[in-house]
Amino acid sequence: LIGLTIGISVTLTLQSFFSRLFPTKSSNEPNYKIANGLADLVGNTPLLEIPSLSRLTKRRILAKAEFLSPGGSPKDRVALNIIRHFEAIGALKPGGTIYEGTVGSTGISIALLSNSLGYHAKIFMPDDVSSEKADLLILMGAEVEKVRPASIVDQDQFVNMAKNMSASKEGSVFADQFENEANWRAHFEGTGPEIWEQTGGKVAAFVTGAGTGGTISGIAIALKQRNPAVKIVLADPQGSGLFNKIKHNTMYSHTEKEGSRRRHQIDSIIEGIGINRLTRNFEVGRKLIDDAIKVTDEEAIAMSRHLLKSDGIFIGSSSAVNVVAAVKTALRMPESSSVVTLLCDSGTRGLSKFWNDAWLRKQKYRISDDISFVLN
Ligand code: PMP
Repeated sequence: LIGLTIGISVTLTLQSFFSRLFPTKSSNEPNYKIANGLADLVGNTPLLEIPSLSRLTKRRILAKAEFLSPGGSPKDRVALNIIRHFEAIGALKPGGTIYEGTVGSTGISIALLSNSLGYHAKIFMPDDVSSEKADLLILMGAEVEKVRPASIVDQDQFVNMAKNMSASKEGSVFADQFENEANWRAHFEGTGPEIWEQTGGKVAAFVTGAGTGGTISGIAIALKQRNPAVKIVLADPQGSGLFNKIKHNTMYSHTEKEGSRRRHQIDSIIEGIGINRLTRNFEVGRKLIDDAIKVTDEEAIAMSRHLLKSDGIFIGSSSAVNVVAAVKTALRMPESSSVVTLLCDSGTRGLSKFWNDAWLRKQKYRISDDISFVLN
């Protein structure tokens, strides 16, 4: 009996020794994960500390690296959640078409995920946006229809066209990122909790701009649920009316006064954020926004050039606005506070405008990588 006991314990010891050397796990408990298709790569982006800015501010400047998502922006999360929502309620059927009116990253996310999940993408856009955006979507397999620019109250405005065209098609849907609540929920369920976990709950403030408002609302609700003291700050570019809404509860649209060609998305070198109307996705979280910071185009230009030169971070215009506002927010907080923002997309998306120095100079912009005026 003693011999048997020794034999068993030696075998067990050897087994545990070898299993530690060569770990094997049962098939339902893998020790590594293989993503099964593009959708599995969406979410769980790294949180990146920006070394030069943490050093300069004596606070921790942290950024969610959303530009690393497969479609290159946080709109992957939104597009995927919108698709999953329409699948769940039975509205989107295999082979169906996803309609959207967009000039930005959402179209790219819808196009790539449609290919991966067995749908078609039909994107409407005004015919005065840069042709490279339409070309990229067509290359990715989306059907693109360009329509004449019009006011959002006109039925032939590009978002309304997408809505109207989808209405009669059984098994097809209108994504509707501005009003569809699957947008903010993607951030409420994903981005927000990820920030909480990645910082171990040590987050003093979260700062971002708003295009549809889905990002700021979803993350604000998720973070305030966990700690109501987390400050939520809106980063607003020139020309956008949201700053006034948060600071003074008045909404103005400077373009509205200019007559018939009313535009609700602002004309700016900053793409993707800044609007002059209140969307459902912005309204959901608006009351949770504690403060707003106006960021000038020149501050955004300087920050983007600084980040590239000092940290090797090459980001687009909306991310640059976010980082400027994050730094300003951090400087109003005690030393060592952690402020989190979002790096929405890569600089490669803005080569013809925000990263085109010759073009910017022609528009009378001063280009520099000196951010001392941002820090003061
Ligand atoms: N950055 C970029 C590049 C975008 O395209 C958008 C969305 N239009 C945003 C930021 C803003 O995000 P949200 O729509 O969630 O407000």
